[in-house]
Amino acid sequence: MGHARVPRGTKAKRRRQQKLADSTSTLERLVTRLNAFAPRGEPPLTSSREREAREVERILESLPRRLEYWKLPRGVVDRFNRLARKAPVILFLSDGTEFRGVPMIGYLNGNGLVLGALWDALQHPHIKRVKRCSRCQKWFVDRTRNNGAKRCSLACTWRWWNRTRRRNRRSKRQRH
Ligand SMILES: [Zn+2]
Repeated sequence: MGHARVPRGTKAKRRRQQKLADSTSTLERLVTRLNAFAPRGEPPLTSSREREAREVERILESLPRRLEYWKLPRGVVDRFNRLARKAPVILFLSDGTEFRGVPMIGYLNGNGLVLGALWDALQHPHIKRVKRCSRCQKWFVDRTRNNGAKRCSLACTWRWWNRTRRRNRRSKRQRH
């Protein structure tokens, strides 16, 4: 008698998800900063950092469905470079007791944080996995095999599904 085995499919799936997670940390960083700097359902934007985050969102939303390397649409490039001029960076080497000499990039203001994350992510082959949830409007990284997710979480899918079902039931009732 051997010990209970995890079904192979599940294990493989977990492994695949782990691999994807390792490779998408760049995209996660972008998503985290966007959600932090441009939160949903907030009162009108006041800080320039929030405005900057909205600009980055617009860039992401204007990326073509099929993205070719080094062939970004000119409009995207112009928009990015316009923002970049307002968010200068500093190159430096870390100077701690434990880690000394690690190449780092510093930002003169908070605006650069989101833009820097986008700069990194634009070179990532899976940038098109960065999406906005159609239910709660938060950004997320799509980890499904076919890159077909529309919502950020199971919770959002349930909420969406219940609402759709309610609506269908209502319209059915009206027809009778
Ligand atoms: Zn959501």
